[in-house]
Amino acid sequence: MNFPQRTSWCGEVRPSHVGQEITLNGWAHRVRDLGGLLFVDLRDRTGLVQLMIDPETLGKPDLRTESSLSVTGRVERRDPQNVNSKLPTGEVEVTVTGLTVLNECAVLPFPVSDEDQMIKVNEELRVKYRYLDIRRPSMYKKIAIRAAAVRKLRAYLDDRGFVEVETPLFTKSTPEGARDYLVPYRLEPGHFYALPQSPQQYKQLLMVAGVERYYQIAKCFRDEAQRADRQPEFTQLDLEMSYVSQEDVLTLIEGLTLSVFNELIQEFGLEKDPVEAFQRITYDESMRLYGNDKPDLRFGLEIFDVSDSVKDSGFGVFKSTVESGGCVRGVRFPGGAKLSRKEVTELEDFCKGFGAKGMASLYVEDTEHEGSHPLGDGRFVRGAMSKFLSAEEINALITAGDAVVGDLLCFVADKWPVTCEALSRLRLLIGDRCGLRDRRKFKFAFVLDFPLVEWNEDEQRWDPTHHPFTSPKVDDLVYLDTDPARIRADCYDVVCNGVEWASGSIRIHRPDVQARIFKLIGVTDEEQQSRFGHILEAFTYGAPPHGGIAPGIDRMIMFLTDDENIREVIAFPKLGGGYDPMMDAPSDISKQQWEEMGLQVRPPAK
Ligand code: ASP
Repeated sequence: MNFPQRTSWCGEVRPSHVGQEITLNGWAHRVRDLGGLLFVDLRDRTGLVQLMIDPETLGKPDLRTESSLSVTGRVERRDPQNVNSKLPTGEVEVTVTGLTVLNECAVLPFPVSDEDQMIKVNEELRVKYRYLDIRRPSMYKKIAIRAAAVRKLRAYLDDRGFVEVETPLFTKSTPEGARDYLVPYRLEPGHFYALPQSPQQYKQLLMVAGVERYYQIAKCFRDEAQRADRQPEFTQLDLEMSYVSQEDVLTLIEGLTLSVFNELIQEFGLEKDPVEAFQRITYDESMRLYGNDKPDLRFGLEIFDVSDSVKDSGFGVFKSTVESGGCVRGVRFPGGAKLSRKEVTELEDFCKGFGAKGMASLYVEDTEHEGSHPLGDGRFVRGAMSKFLSAEEINALITAGDAVVGDLLCFVADKWPVTCEALSRLRLLIGDRCGLRDRRKFKFAFVLDFPLVEWNEDEQRWDPTHHPFTSPKVDDLVYLDTDPARIRADCYDVVCNGVEWASGSIRIHRPDVQARIFKLIGVTDEEQQSRFGHILEAFTYGAPPHGGIAPGIDRMIMFLTDDENIREVIAFPKLGGGYDPMMDAPSDISKQQWEEMGLQVRPPAK
């Protein structure tokens, strides 16, 4: 089709162009009929510019929003009272002298140009019509940020001698703790490829191959329960290095993060403070202070342990919990003493929702209320536990919680893991309520010294905390046969604002050690050969010491765009259950394909 092609971009027309004739191509973003004149905001990917159409000269075109147009016109300066200071092109408009409707737009499923209305549009509809959804400047911006992020990540690594290598998508299972997606193999019915949960084995094999510094913008596939920050297919910046220590990998990833995030914040004018040097915390310390291994370090309010102070107290729940090997831990709610009884009950229910049997609270006040106990220094405490505890015990709780008048101390008495889960959640809730989770701030941290394995009660076996290729700390290998829970790994996570962003480790590079770890996690000799024989063999050929890490690209964009739903930063995401309403996938296959694949569906068991 022949049509007048653009000489300018919509978003770039400026007063310096006044008097020039230009041609623009784009979509009719908004059409306003002001009786005599027609005003159209024309949009392309750079922005909007206002067109003015005089029906006296052009006739009255029937213009629907989102129709595709080619427009020629003269750039004019707007009258001062009509200047739109919100638009970069707001000082000018284009008086149209020629207009071609290249393709008319049908009735839209949602109002593409109205951001306020779009917030209310059902997500399934947006994903079904993603090609319209992405026309919105706010969505396009995320795609542009993502593209720039990937470009900068590549540049950073290219400059440091890394090479990008593509690894296969049709492969053999690489366990990362999820179920595999399988692809049936036509030539041998009953045989399947697995889509990679990560390129973990290939990148290690590339180290055996002498590549030394590898990266890839890698698609990973994991069939696991979906959450707001998970998709069945997602993207990692996967990297691996040879002849390195843990410190080398950490230095690289910290430098890369600071450089790329800070450049993106500047380039896109994002409302974020610059990223600063990473904090460091061990896994044990993180569990102790924050109750989880992905602490939000934008605020304090650390969890504190008062088991020792209450183990002989008259408060039965505390006493019996400590006696039976549990613990009593708490978290402070600044200003929480003003909460109503009902609001505190809601906090208690919240903790119960995460497995706690209850939550005990202590109000610290300087005025007497019904049920208050004076501490003798002008302060009073309230709460079910207060009448069972001595003044000394109460003072110990207040000191441990660093509480001041007006605070509420919240306690959970239970087994250690239960207190971790409930109090880590409660701490975040309190952080939200007190406005302490500042959206402008990024608090990155390395979490170090993870345990190598964790006990799987259901399956009665040791599971790798990370994946089976993670190296144990050499000094801890002595516990391999006696006390595997004590083995720490050369393993590290990067967390940001309470979210895990990257995981990595120094790897096992010796076949004997790898075989011992497989054995520990219940992979039989036979399975070792059938599932991992290739990598065990590769390690016999002078495999170098190596390690790496893999930050999530989708999550990186979520951090930058403040999105809490991963689907917002993926051009064509899957909905719950992995469904793609736009392509209607997954879908049935033809009879012939069933036969070619040698597949049939077993009728459901009765
Ligand atoms: N393959 C790991 C993962 O996907 C990352 C790594 O260990 O480098 O979490």
